[in-house]
Amino acid sequence: MSLFFPALASTDTIGTSLNGKRISVSIRSFIPPKMKNNFLTSLSFDETTHYQVDGAEQVFIDCGAFHYVDEKVPKFKKGGYVNARSAIQHYIHRHSNRKNAAKSYLVCSPDHIIPPDMSDIDSKNRTKWTIHVAKEFIELCKEIPNFTPVGVVHGRNKNERLVMVEEYITLGYKYIAFGGLVPIARNESLVLEQIAGISDFTEPKIDKNSPLGLAMLNGCKTHMFGLNSPEWYRWWKRMGVTSFDGSKLSQEGAANGIIWSSNEFDIKSPPSSAKGLYTKTKIKNIGERNWIEGKDGIYELDVKGESILDVQSSGWEFYKDSLCMNNNCKQTSFKHRPDPRTTGSVEHNMGRTIINAHVFEEIMQRIDNLVEIADKSNDEIYDDWRSIGWE
Ligand SMILES: [Zn+2]
Repeated sequence: MSLFFPALASTDTIGTSLNGKRISVSIRSFIPPKMKNNFLTSLSFDETTHYQVDGAEQVFIDCGAFHYVDEKVPKFKKGGYVNARSAIQHYIHRHSNRKNAAKSYLVCSPDHIIPPDMSDIDSKNRTKWTIHVAKEFIELCKEIPNFTPVGVVHGRNKNERLVMVEEYITLGYKYIAFGGLVPIARNESLVLEQIAGISDFTEPKIDKNSPLGLAMLNGCKTHMFGLNSPEWYRWWKRMGVTSFDGSKLSQEGAANGIIWSSNEFDIKSPPSSAKGLYTKTKIKNIGERNWIEGKDGIYELDVKGESILDVQSSGWEFYKDSLCMNNNCKQTSFKHRPDPRTTGSVEHNMGRTIINAHVFEEIMQRIDNLVEIADKSNDEIYDDWRSIGWE
Protein backbone atom coordinates (compact mmCIF):
# COMPACT_ATOMS: atom_id res chain seq x y z
CA MET A 1 0.00 0.00 0.00
CA SER A 2 1.14 3.50 -0.80
CA LEU A 3 0.54 5.38 2.46
CA PHE A 4 -1.91 8.28 2.32
CA PHE A 5 -1.34 11.33 4.52
CA PRO A 6 -4.48 13.53 4.58
CA ALA A 7 -3.31 17.16 4.40
CA LEU A 8 -5.01 18.88 7.33
CA ALA A 9 -5.53 22.63 7.69
CA SER A 10 -6.65 24.40 10.86
CA THR A 11 -10.22 24.41 9.48
CA ASP A 12 -10.42 20.60 9.34
CA THR A 13 -12.52 20.42 12.49
CA ILE A 14 -16.07 19.43 13.28
CA GLY A 15 -18.42 20.36 16.09
CA THR A 16 -19.76 17.51 18.15
CA SER A 17 -21.74 17.26 21.36
CA LEU A 18 -20.10 16.30 24.61
CA ASN A 19 -22.32 16.14 27.71
CA GLY A 20 -24.75 18.47 26.03
CA LYS A 21 -22.10 21.06 25.11
CA ARG A 22 -20.66 21.76 21.68
CA ILE A 23 -16.96 21.13 21.30
CA SER A 24 -14.88 21.59 18.19
CA VAL A 25 -12.54 18.67 17.43
CA SER A 26 -10.09 17.74 14.71
CA ILE A 27 -11.63 15.49 12.06
CA ARG A 28 -8.82 13.10 13.09
CA SER A 29 -11.31 11.84 15.70
CA PHE A 30 -13.61 10.44 13.01
CA ILE A 31 -11.51 9.31 10.04
CA PRO A 32 -10.10 5.77 9.55
CA PRO A 33 -7.25 4.88 11.96
CA LYS A 34 -4.43 4.97 9.41
CA MET A 35 -5.40 8.49 8.26
CA LYS A 36 -5.97 9.57 11.85
CA ASN A 37 -2.49 8.50 12.88
CA ASN A 38 -0.54 9.52 9.78
CA PHE A 39 -1.34 13.00 8.53
CA LEU A 40 0.35 15.91 6.85
CA THR A 41 0.27 19.49 7.99
CA SER A 42 1.98 22.65 6.87
CA LEU A 43 3.78 25.33 8.87
CA SER A 44 1.36 27.78 7.21
CA PHE A 45 -1.55 26.47 9.27
CA ASP A 46 -2.19 26.30 12.99
CA GLU A 47 -1.69 22.66 13.98
CA THR A 48 -2.92 22.90 17.62
CA THR A 49 -6.34 21.30 17.13
CA HIS A 50 -4.88 18.21 15.47
CA TYR A 51 -2.62 17.48 18.48
CA GLN A 52 -5.62 17.44 20.82
CA VAL A 53 -6.27 13.93 19.51
CA ASP A 54 -3.69 11.36 20.58
CA GLY A 55 -2.26 8.36 18.75
CA ALA A 56 -0.24 10.11 16.04
CA GLU A 57 2.33 7.72 14.57
CA GLN A 58 4.03 9.58 11.76
CA VAL A 59 3.35 13.21 10.89
CA PHE A 60 4.55 14.77 7.66
CA ILE A 61 5.35 18.47 7.96
CA ASP A 62 6.01 20.78 5.05
CA CYS A 63 7.36 24.28 5.41
CA GLY A 64 4.43 25.96 3.63
CA ALA A 65 6.22 26.80 0.35
CA PHE A 66 2.88 27.26 -1.41
CA HIS A 67 2.31 30.46 0.56
CA TYR A 68 5.54 32.13 -0.56
CA VAL A 69 5.52 30.92 -4.16
CA ASP A 70 5.31 34.54 -5.39
CA GLU A 71 7.98 35.91 -3.04
CA LYS A 72 11.57 36.31 -4.14
CA VAL A 73 12.85 35.64 -0.64
CA PRO A 74 11.00 32.82 1.18
CA LYS A 75 9.15 33.96 4.30
CA PHE A 76 6.89 31.83 6.49
CA LYS A 77 3.21 32.74 6.34
CA LYS A 78 3.32 33.23 10.10
CA GLY A 79 6.45 35.43 9.87
CA GLY A 80 10.24 35.05 9.73
CA TYR A 81 12.64 34.06 6.98
CA VAL A 82 12.80 30.46 5.81
CA ASN A 83 16.11 28.66 6.17
CA ALA A 84 17.28 25.24 7.42
CA ARG A 85 17.64 26.32 11.03
CA SER A 86 14.38 28.31 11.31
CA ALA A 87 12.41 25.45 9.72
CA ILE A 88 13.87 22.91 12.18
CA GLN A 89 13.04 25.19 15.10
CA HIS A 90 9.42 25.44 13.99
CA TYR A 91 9.24 21.67 13.44
CA ILE A 92 10.49 21.09 16.99
CA HIS A 93 8.59 23.80 18.87
CA ARG A 94 5.29 23.47 17.06
CA HIS A 95 5.34 19.70 16.57
CA SER A 96 7.75 17.27 18.19
CA ASN A 97 7.84 19.10 21.54
CA ARG A 98 4.08 19.01 21.94
CA LYS A 99 1.94 16.89 24.21
CA ASN A 100 0.57 14.06 22.03
CA ALA A 101 3.53 14.44 19.66
CA ALA A 102 3.88 11.80 16.97
CA LYS A 103 6.33 8.93 17.35
CA SER A 104 8.22 10.11 14.28
CA TYR A 105 8.25 12.95 11.78
CA LEU A 106 8.86 13.29 8.07
CA VAL A 107 10.21 16.84 7.82
CA CYS A 108 10.58 18.68 4.53
CA SER A 109 13.77 20.46 3.75
CA PRO A 110 12.58 24.01 2.88
CA ASP A 111 11.81 24.36 -0.81
CA HIS A 112 10.95 27.13 -3.25
CA ILE A 113 8.31 26.05 -5.78
CA ILE A 114 9.15 26.35 -9.49
CA PRO A 115 5.90 26.98 -11.44
CA PRO A 116 5.74 25.41 -14.94
CA ASP A 117 6.00 28.81 -16.70
CA MET A 118 8.89 30.24 -14.65
CA SER A 119 11.83 31.89 -16.46
CA ASP A 120 15.17 30.07 -16.84
CA ILE A 121 17.00 32.42 -14.49
CA ASP A 122 14.40 32.28 -11.70
CA SER A 123 14.11 28.52 -12.04
CA LYS A 124 17.89 28.15 -11.71
CA ASN A 125 18.02 30.46 -8.67
CA ARG A 126 15.24 28.59 -6.88
CA THR A 127 16.90 25.22 -7.53
CA LYS A 128 20.18 26.60 -6.21
CA TRP A 129 18.54 28.02 -3.08
CA THR A 130 16.60 24.80 -2.34
CA ILE A 131 19.70 22.58 -2.68
CA HIS A 132 21.84 25.00 -0.65
CA VAL A 133 19.32 24.87 2.23
CA ALA A 134 19.01 21.06 1.90
CA LYS A 135 22.77 20.64 2.64
CA GLU A 136 22.49 22.24 6.05
CA PHE A 137 19.04 20.78 6.76
CA ILE A 138 20.14 17.13 6.52
CA GLU A 139 23.07 17.83 8.86
CA LEU A 140 20.80 19.45 11.48
CA CYS A 141 18.36 16.51 11.29
CA LYS A 142 21.13 14.09 12.30
CA GLU A 143 20.87 15.45 15.85
CA ILE A 144 17.14 14.64 16.10
CA PRO A 145 16.46 10.90 16.27
CA ASN A 146 12.79 10.87 15.24
CA PHE A 147 13.16 13.27 12.29
CA THR A 148 13.52 11.90 8.76
CA PRO A 149 14.55 14.68 6.36
CA VAL A 150 12.67 14.79 3.06
CA GLY A 151 14.15 16.43 -0.04
CA VAL A 152 11.54 18.15 -2.20
CA VAL A 153 11.99 17.99 -5.97
CA HIS A 154 10.80 20.75 -8.29
CA GLY A 155 11.43 21.56 -11.93
CA ARG A 156 9.68 22.54 -15.14
CA ASN A 157 10.44 19.25 -16.85
CA LYS A 158 11.87 15.77 -16.35
CA ASN A 159 15.51 16.80 -16.72
CA GLU A 160 15.31 19.63 -14.18
CA ARG A 161 13.65 17.27 -11.72
CA LEU A 162 16.31 14.64 -12.41
CA VAL A 163 19.09 17.11 -11.54
CA MET A 164 17.47 17.79 -8.16
CA VAL A 165 17.03 14.08 -7.43
CA GLU A 166 20.76 13.53 -8.14
CA GLU A 167 21.64 16.35 -5.73
CA TYR A 168 19.49 14.92 -2.93
CA ILE A 169 20.95 11.44 -3.39
CA THR A 170 24.49 12.88 -3.22
CA LEU A 171 23.58 14.76 -0.03
CA GLY A 172 22.38 11.50 1.57
CA TYR A 173 18.61 11.97 1.50
CA LYS A 174 16.68 8.70 1.87
CA TYR A 175 13.19 10.16 1.35
CA ILE A 176 12.47 12.18 -1.78
CA ALA A 177 9.20 14.01 -2.45
CA PHE A 178 7.92 15.39 -5.73
CA GLY A 179 6.29 18.82 -5.57
CA GLY A 180 4.76 21.26 -8.04
CA LEU A 181 2.53 18.57 -9.57
CA VAL A 182 -0.86 20.11 -8.77
CA PRO A 183 -0.72 22.73 -11.60
CA ILE A 184 -0.21 19.93 -14.17
CA ALA A 185 -2.47 17.34 -12.48
CA ARG A 186 -5.11 17.45 -15.21
CA ASN A 187 -2.52 16.24 -17.71
CA GLU A 188 -1.96 12.70 -16.42
CA SER A 189 0.48 11.72 -19.16
CA LEU A 190 2.62 14.83 -18.55
CA VAL A 191 2.87 14.07 -14.81
CA LEU A 192 3.85 10.45 -15.46
CA GLU A 193 6.35 11.46 -18.14
CA GLN A 194 8.01 14.09 -15.91
CA ILE A 195 8.16 11.82 -12.88
CA ALA A 196 8.79 8.35 -14.28
CA GLY A 197 9.60 8.84 -17.97
CA ILE A 198 6.50 6.84 -18.95
CA SER A 199 5.62 7.38 -22.60
CA ASP A 200 3.79 4.20 -23.65
CA PHE A 201 0.52 3.99 -21.75
CA THR A 202 -0.57 0.61 -23.08
CA GLU A 203 2.51 -1.00 -21.55
CA PRO A 204 3.86 1.53 -19.04
CA LYS A 205 7.41 1.10 -17.71
CA ILE A 206 9.43 3.21 -15.26
CA ASP A 207 12.53 4.66 -16.92
CA LYS A 208 15.64 3.95 -14.81
CA ASN A 209 16.95 7.40 -15.72
CA SER A 210 13.80 9.23 -14.68
CA PRO A 211 13.53 11.19 -11.41
CA LEU A 212 11.42 8.47 -9.76
CA GLY A 213 13.47 5.63 -11.27
CA LEU A 214 16.75 7.07 -10.02
CA ALA A 215 15.37 7.69 -6.53
CA MET A 216 14.00 4.14 -6.28
CA LEU A 217 17.14 2.48 -7.65
CA ASN A 218 19.14 4.33 -4.99
CA GLY A 219 16.94 2.87 -2.26
CA CYS A 220 15.10 6.10 -1.50
CA LYS A 221 11.50 6.22 -0.34
CA THR A 222 9.33 8.45 -2.51
CA HIS A 223 6.39 10.77 -1.94
CA MET A 224 3.96 12.60 -4.28
CA PHE A 225 2.62 15.96 -3.09
CA GLY A 226 -1.00 16.87 -3.61
CA LEU A 227 -2.19 14.28 -6.15
CA ASN A 228 -4.62 12.23 -4.10
CA SER A 229 -7.61 11.15 -6.16
CA PRO A 230 -8.35 7.40 -6.21
CA GLU A 231 -7.08 7.39 -9.81
CA TRP A 232 -3.74 8.83 -8.74
CA TYR A 233 -3.60 6.22 -5.99
CA ARG A 234 -3.94 3.53 -8.68
CA TRP A 235 -0.77 4.92 -10.33
CA TRP A 236 1.20 5.39 -7.09
CA LYS A 237 0.37 1.86 -5.96
CA ARG A 238 1.30 0.32 -9.33
CA MET A 239 4.56 2.32 -9.43
CA GLY A 240 5.61 1.44 -5.88
CA VAL A 241 5.53 5.05 -4.61
CA THR A 242 5.91 5.01 -0.81
CA SER A 243 3.45 7.76 0.13
CA PHE A 244 1.28 10.65 -1.03
CA ASP A 245 -0.90 13.37 0.47
CA GLY A 246 -3.57 15.90 -0.32
CA SER A 247 -6.69 17.74 0.76
CA LYS A 248 -9.16 16.36 -1.78
CA LEU A 249 -11.34 14.90 0.98
CA SER A 250 -11.99 18.36 2.43
CA GLN A 251 -12.14 20.15 -0.91
CA GLU A 252 -14.64 17.82 -2.54
CA GLY A 253 -16.52 16.89 0.60
CA ALA A 254 -16.80 20.03 2.70
CA ALA A 255 -16.27 22.75 0.10
CA ASN A 256 -17.81 21.32 -3.07
CA GLY A 257 -20.63 19.32 -1.50
CA ILE A 258 -19.76 15.94 -2.99
CA ILE A 259 -20.38 12.61 -1.25
CA TRP A 260 -18.51 9.52 -2.41
CA SER A 261 -19.94 6.01 -2.38
CA SER A 262 -18.33 2.72 -3.41
CA ASN A 263 -19.55 0.95 -6.55
CA GLU A 264 -20.25 -2.73 -6.68
CA PHE A 265 -18.27 -4.52 -9.39
CA ASP A 266 -17.36 -8.00 -10.51
CA ILE A 267 -13.72 -8.78 -9.68
CA LYS A 268 -13.59 -10.85 -12.90
CA SER A 269 -14.33 -7.78 -15.03
CA PRO A 270 -12.78 -4.79 -13.26
CA PRO A 271 -13.18 -1.20 -14.54
CA SER A 272 -10.27 0.27 -16.50
CA SER A 273 -9.60 3.02 -13.96
CA ALA A 274 -10.25 3.85 -10.31
CA LYS A 275 -13.04 6.18 -11.43
CA GLY A 276 -15.16 3.07 -11.93
CA LEU A 277 -14.79 2.07 -8.29
CA TYR A 278 -16.90 4.86 -6.81
CA THR A 279 -19.63 7.39 -7.51
CA LYS A 280 -19.63 11.07 -6.68
CA THR A 281 -22.99 12.58 -5.77
CA LYS A 282 -23.45 16.33 -5.61
CA ILE A 283 -25.77 17.14 -2.74
CA LYS A 284 -27.04 20.21 -4.60
CA ASN A 285 -28.81 17.76 -6.94
CA ILE A 286 -30.96 16.40 -4.13
CA GLY A 287 -34.48 17.33 -5.12
CA GLU A 288 -36.35 17.59 -1.88
CA ARG A 289 -35.39 17.69 1.79
CA ASN A 290 -37.68 17.42 4.78
CA TRP A 291 -36.84 17.49 8.46
CA ILE A 292 -38.96 14.89 10.24
CA GLU A 293 -39.36 14.69 14.00
CA GLY A 294 -37.79 11.51 15.28
CA LYS A 295 -37.40 10.02 18.74
CA ASP A 296 -36.74 12.40 21.65
CA GLY A 297 -37.87 15.31 19.48
CA ILE A 298 -34.67 15.24 17.41
CA TYR A 299 -35.26 16.00 13.77
CA GLU A 300 -33.87 13.74 11.07
CA LEU A 301 -33.41 14.52 7.42
CA ASP A 302 -35.48 12.78 4.79
CA VAL A 303 -34.42 13.31 1.19
CA LYS A 304 -36.09 12.53 -2.08
CA GLY A 305 -34.18 11.25 -5.06
CA GLU A 306 -30.94 10.38 -3.29
CA SER A 307 -30.33 7.78 -0.64
CA ILE A 308 -26.57 8.02 -0.28
CA LEU A 309 -26.54 7.44 3.42
CA ASP A 310 -28.66 4.34 3.16
CA VAL A 311 -25.46 2.80 1.88
CA GLN A 312 -23.51 1.40 4.79
CA SER A 313 -20.98 4.10 5.59
CA SER A 314 -18.72 3.63 8.56
CA GLY A 315 -18.01 7.39 8.46
CA TRP A 316 -21.61 8.20 9.16
CA GLU A 317 -21.86 5.46 11.80
CA PHE A 318 -19.44 7.42 13.96
CA TYR A 319 -21.61 10.41 14.53
CA LYS A 320 -25.12 9.80 13.21
CA ASP A 321 -26.44 9.76 16.78
CA SER A 322 -24.77 13.09 17.40
CA LEU A 323 -26.51 16.49 17.34
CA CYS A 324 -25.84 19.56 15.26
CA MET A 325 -25.02 21.99 18.07
CA ASN A 326 -23.97 24.85 15.84
CA ASN A 327 -25.72 28.09 16.83
CA ASN A 328 -25.09 29.47 13.39
CA CYS A 329 -26.54 26.48 11.54
CA LYS A 330 -28.80 27.66 8.76
CA GLN A 331 -30.87 24.46 8.76
CA THR A 332 -33.45 24.60 11.48
CA SER A 333 -34.11 26.15 14.84
CA PHE A 334 -34.91 22.76 16.43
CA LYS A 335 -32.62 19.94 17.54
CA HIS A 336 -31.40 17.99 14.52
CA ARG A 337 -28.87 15.47 13.29
CA PRO A 338 -25.68 16.78 11.62
CA ASP A 339 -26.75 15.13 8.35
CA PRO A 340 -24.10 15.69 5.65
CA ARG A 341 -26.64 15.57 2.82
CA THR A 342 -27.27 19.23 3.46
CA THR A 343 -25.17 22.34 4.12
CA GLY A 344 -25.66 24.93 6.82
CA SER A 345 -22.80 24.51 9.26
CA VAL A 346 -19.40 22.89 9.67
CA GLU A 347 -21.15 19.89 11.27
CA HIS A 348 -22.97 19.10 8.04
CA ASN A 349 -20.12 20.08 5.72
CA MET A 350 -17.26 18.25 7.43
CA GLY A 351 -19.47 15.19 7.71
CA ARG A 352 -18.98 14.72 3.98
CA THR A 353 -15.21 14.85 4.39
CA ILE A 354 -15.45 12.14 7.04
CA ILE A 355 -17.69 9.90 4.92
CA ASN A 356 -15.41 10.35 1.91
CA ALA A 357 -12.38 9.44 4.03
CA HIS A 358 -13.96 6.09 4.90
CA VAL A 359 -14.97 5.46 1.29
CA PHE A 360 -11.42 6.36 0.15
CA GLU A 361 -10.03 3.81 2.59
CA GLU A 362 -12.32 1.16 1.04
CA ILE A 363 -11.30 2.20 -2.50
CA MET A 364 -7.59 1.95 -1.63
CA GLN A 365 -8.11 -1.55 -0.23
CA ARG A 366 -9.93 -2.57 -3.41
CA ILE A 367 -7.11 -1.18 -5.54
CA ASP A 368 -4.54 -3.07 -3.47
CA ASN A 369 -6.58 -6.21 -3.94
CA LEU A 370 -6.88 -5.68 -7.72
CA VAL A 371 -3.12 -5.09 -8.06
CA GLU A 372 -2.43 -8.27 -6.11
CA ILE A 373 -4.73 -10.28 -8.38
CA ALA A 374 -3.33 -8.62 -11.53
CA ASP A 375 0.27 -9.44 -10.56
CA LYS A 376 -0.59 -13.14 -10.38
CA SER A 377 -2.49 -13.19 -13.68
CA ASN A 378 -1.61 -12.79 -17.33
CA ASP A 379 -5.21 -12.07 -18.26
CA GLU A 380 -5.44 -8.81 -20.17
CA ILE A 381 -8.55 -7.73 -18.24
CA TYR A 382 -6.14 -6.87 -15.40
CA ASP A 383 -3.68 -4.90 -17.55
CA ASP A 384 -4.76 -1.57 -16.01
CA TRP A 385 -4.02 -2.81 -12.49
CA ARG A 386 -0.68 -4.62 -12.76
CA SER A 387 2.46 -3.37 -10.97
CA ILE A 388 4.62 -1.35 -13.33
CA GLY A 389 8.08 -2.68 -14.06
CA TRP A 390 11.30 -1.15 -15.39
CA GLU A 391 12.03 0.06 -18.87
ZN1 LIG B 1 -27.24 21.92 11.63
